[in-house]
Amino acid sequence: MTKRSPAFKLLTMPQTSSFTAQAPQRPSLHEEVLIGVDVGGTKIEVCALRHPSTSDPSCLGQVLYRERLPTPKGDYQATIELIHTLVEHCSQTLKIQWPQCVGLGIPGTLDAQTQTIRGSNSLVLNGQAMAQDLRNSLACDVVLQNDANCFALSEAMDGAGQGHAMVFGVIIGTGCGGGIVHHQQIWGGANRLGGEWGHTPLPWANELERQRAPCWCKKSLCMERFVSGTGFEEDHLVASGLPLKAQEIVGLAIMGNPQAKASLERYIDRLARGLSMVVNILDPDCIVLGGGMSLVEELYSPLQAKLSSYCFHEGSRTPILKAVHGDSSGVRGAAWLSQTPAKQP
Ligand SMILES: [Zn+2]
Repeated sequence: MTKRSPAFKLLTMPQTSSFTAQAPQRPSLHEEVLIGVDVGGTKIEVCALRHPSTSDPSCLGQVLYRERLPTPKGDYQATIELIHTLVEHCSQTLKIQWPQCVGLGIPGTLDAQTQTIRGSNSLVLNGQAMAQDLRNSLACDVVLQNDANCFALSEAMDGAGQGHAMVFGVIIGTGCGGGIVHHQQIWGGANRLGGEWGHTPLPWANELERQRAPCWCKKSLCMERFVSGTGFEEDHLVASGLPLKAQEIVGLAIMGNPQAKASLERYIDRLARGLSMVVNILDPDCIVLGGGMSLVEELYSPLQAKLSSYCFHEGSRTPILKAVHGDSSGVRGAAWLSQTPAKQP
């Protein structure tokens, strides 16, 4: 594993910029900051965080700069150039030296053998040696990770999982991703598959569940098909014939609609079954939920009880926590990457 130096130092006080999305306290002279970039299907975002080693502890993870721009559609080279532009804007606005290291969160995983990206829903990234291409473009070190791993890292560093040794983070949104963080480091694993819980099968599946169409990954019974927001909507459609959005189903369930209540109960039961496998194998100190479905407050109490009932030792009490940083976790985790590189195989 390469030892990476912490980000870079501020030279002068930053000036107000039209690019700055937030109005944080400004860093002091020579303070180090962390820079991360989150590559999404619709936008690419850069974020600079205050470096914890040089800050007041109360400023841990404070955002110094954020900017997002639309992702160039289907153009890999333009994507690399846009990332360069965003890092340039950030360093110019904060008046800092060019970074020694940038963290990068992407949809998809890095092939451990070829060092190229695979499994990305941003198809233009697949097969590309993106980390190396960005090292060439930025002339600095680049640490690249799956966006769900970035989410888990962000929550482990200064979010809901802060202070826990082993954090399992799950994004339950349009799709489903997971990440493992141990002592503030992402556990990528020998095949870089650590945390890919969304593509493990639903345990104790009944006949009806077995009839669900295969996942986009071509395997059957993937957790993603059941516990993503999309899976929740599909399940309610099959059961009721009503094509509703997830928040509409939850709203109806809260108002006492029997079909919606049953759909939410099935969803919670399946989520609990899947998470019990995580507890039986990994036994994390906490589980942090992010993504749209994590915003359903009514989910947590019954999920906690059901998880306990499905674990090998009934009565296990693994805390299930709601993410603190919401949509910002991807880019925040990418920034933390620049000081906490993943374990390499
Ligand atoms: Zn799958």
